[in-house]
Amino acid sequence: MSTVQVKETLNYIGGKWTQSRTGRVGENRNPADDTEVVGTFQESSAQDADDAVAAAKKAYASWRVLPAPKRAEYLFKVGAILTERKEAYARDMTREMGKILAETRGDVQEGIDTAFLSGGEGRRLFGDKVPCELPNKSGWSERHPIGVCGLITPWNFPMAIPTWKLFPALVCGNTAVLKPASDTPMSAFNLVEACEAAGLPPGVVNLVTGDGVGVGGRLVEHPDVRVISFTGSSAVGRRIAESCGKSLKRVALELGGKNAQIVMDDADLDLALEGVLWGAFGTAGQRCTATSRLILHKPIKKKVLDMLVDRVKTLKLGNGLDETVQVGPMVSKSQREGVHRYVEIGMSEDRARLVCGGEFYTEGECEKGWFYAPTILDGVTRNMRIAREEIFGPVLAVIEANDLDDAISILNDTPYGLSSSIYTRDVNQAFHAIRDIEAGITYVNGPTIGAEVQLPFGGVKDTGNGHREASHTVLDIFTEWKSVYVDYSGRLQRAQIDTESAE
Ligand code: NAD
Repeated sequence: MSTVQVKETLNYIGGKWTQSRTGRVGENRNPADDTEVVGTFQESSAQDADDAVAAAKKAYASWRVLPAPKRAEYLFKVGAILTERKEAYARDMTREMGKILAETRGDVQEGIDTAFLSGGEGRRLFGDKVPCELPNKSGWSERHPIGVCGLITPWNFPMAIPTWKLFPALVCGNTAVLKPASDTPMSAFNLVEACEAAGLPPGVVNLVTGDGVGVGGRLVEHPDVRVISFTGSSAVGRRIAESCGKSLKRVALELGGKNAQIVMDDADLDLALEGVLWGAFGTAGQRCTATSRLILHKPIKKKVLDMLVDRVKTLKLGNGLDETVQVGPMVSKSQREGVHRYVEIGMSEDRARLVCGGEFYTEGECEKGWFYAPTILDGVTRNMRIAREEIFGPVLAVIEANDLDDAISILNDTPYGLSSSIYTRDVNQAFHAIRDIEAGITYVNGPTIGAEVQLPFGGVKDTGNGHREASHTVLDIFTEWKSVYVDYSGRLQRAQIDTESAE
């Protein structure tokens, strides 16, 4: 179980760990030290995806009719196993994708929370029982599973995000094929290993690693996959939605963000500072909910910026296994290059001014990895690309606002709408912001990151297509409603017609 130095991860199809039909394996390297090979993974093909879908389809016949409380018992077991293995899996995750141990422990913990939340749904899965308009007649709604679900996930929450999809899908009676990001195959492997240890029947959960188009694309197009649940970039999400639109396949998309924190002049500025440090530079800014813009009310702008720069310069970068490190690396070389390109774009635009960072970070051991110095750009205005497009790195754009309405209007002025935050002591301003901010999540006096699994997660505009994961709202992704009418009058009763003569 986990934490061997180099781990060979296999596909999991129909209850068996298997190599890909291609015979090809890829290398999984530590982004904090590119010389360290953490493991290998299967570079699978569309045929492997087909095998997994066939296994999931076969398992669906018996899994769907197993009572939901029994299905839930498996999830409680998975939750217990993840709890036992939390530390080992967190360490594996830090080694394969770089974020610091405190955060990878949190990532596994989110999976544990989701296991218990989803397990609890096994004894709920509520429908509505409502009165019927005719006598001796009953009516209610109930949830039904849909079939095989294709789950396609990114690298930044390599265990939590797969669990957000997998556990609700299973408790509802579906079976699943998981296709994780190629930067983080080991965390997906660890999750499926925990499912296997919990005794889930063969074929209920399947894992196929490999590239987006070859494996993910096949799941999207496969006629036996009835639901696609995708988390990733808006560009890929759009392509997936187009394909699913053609076949009328259900698709739930959780996409990018361009989140902002507003700080008003009456705020607790020390608190706001802690919030933006965590929101912007936690996970090295590689969170869909990361704080990418700091909107400062004019009277306190200079003060907050000075305080912030002082603190940012003290952040410790390094290998996330060192508990004193605060910021890990970018997940890959190409991710770091992409972030740097945005900083260059920012500096070439209008009046943006580089306040700190803006370069690869290569001090000491960091030279071996893909580190990027925490970066602040001041003088940013709402029309600049760095104010509108997702960067997904430790880069913060500072924008000045004249008043609350101006701040909210700047915050709303992007194509995205995932997370948002306002720091103020004025309850009226807080409620005004809750009402007017266009986002799926608003925090008051908290940073843009830190969602809990019992509340809906997702966003508006280009962040998604209207679904919400977590909470009970995720059940709408993985079930079809059936309305049931039972007429025990013994005669034909016509709705809307026989109501007047009803006894
Ligand atoms: P990505 O879109 O590049 O890849 C996501 C997944 O899709 C990977 O498994 C990839 O292999 C697969 N994929 C790529 N092309 C595909 C295709 N044509 N068909 C099917 N699958 C395909 O995203 P990423 O770089 O892994 O993750 C970063 C992005 O994810 C950011 O935009 C971030 O905001 C977003 N994200 C969103 C949320 C959310 O809940 N809203 C959470 C985390 C990350």
